[in-house]
Amino acid sequence: MRAAIGFLFTTLSGCSSSAHWRNLPEQRTGVVAYLLIDDNERIRPAVGLVHVLAETAPLPVDKLYVFTSGQGNLALRVQAFDSKNAGAFRCGKGTPPPSGCVFVGDELLAALSLDALAGVMAHELGHLERGHKPLDSDLQTARGITRTGNQLCGQLVPGPICAVAGVIGCALALGGLASTATISSYSRDLEREADESALNRLKAAGVQCPSLVMQKTFSELSNLPGAGKGGGLFSTHPSLRERWQNLNGAC
Ligand SMILES: [Zn+2]
Repeated sequence: MRAAIGFLFTTLSGCSSSAHWRNLPEQRTGVVAYLLIDDNERIRPAVGLVHVLAETAPLPVDKLYVFTSGQGNLALRVQAFDSKNAGAFRCGKGTPPPSGCVFVGDELLAALSLDALAGVMAHELGHLERGHKPLDSDLQTARGITRTGNQLCGQLVPGPICAVAGVIGCALALGGLASTATISSYSRDLEREADESALNRLKAAGVQCPSLVMQKTFSELSNLPGAGKGGGLFSTHPSLRERWQNLNGAC
């Protein structure tokens, strides 16, 4: 089972078609970010950043959940989240799911500076802000994960890991995600939209020179081992270099 999921993730995450969610709730500021599992010191700065970035510019979600790749994998009992990547998707019970889920890979948390982490988080919130919905019909074959999601959705089992499983499981079962492999897969245009949204959000949060923060983000990401693979943040189209060049370094 694990091997099959790993194969799907590797082969398909780099290119997929995408769409936008319809009937999203109205955008609002002051959305609160939650840390659901407190067993990882490194996630705290990321949650703090999401909290600040979500407060200042509108998002069409009721709340945000932030977790590490390791916590997500433990909750779902499959290797669904890549430790070298980050992603955002709508989660919780409902169509569309009401909340925002943001995962950050453990290796990113260990390697990135606080500035670069802010850039990553702002980019991921950009996907939620613009209502991006990952889709990939090829991944309909990943039924095992969808079935797991159905079992976990809305589960009222006590304990933090189960709470996360319930929230993420609903996203897989109801949220139009055929599998978690699609979470980090967006088209080139949607990646550009998310980058643009990130610049505006960083500005709204009081960052003096958002384009320099995003350039630092892409520089640090491109220096990580495995950069250029895995889709999402590491998408080769557009490449990190191209995204770096698109930013005007002047403030
Ligand atoms: Zn993205």
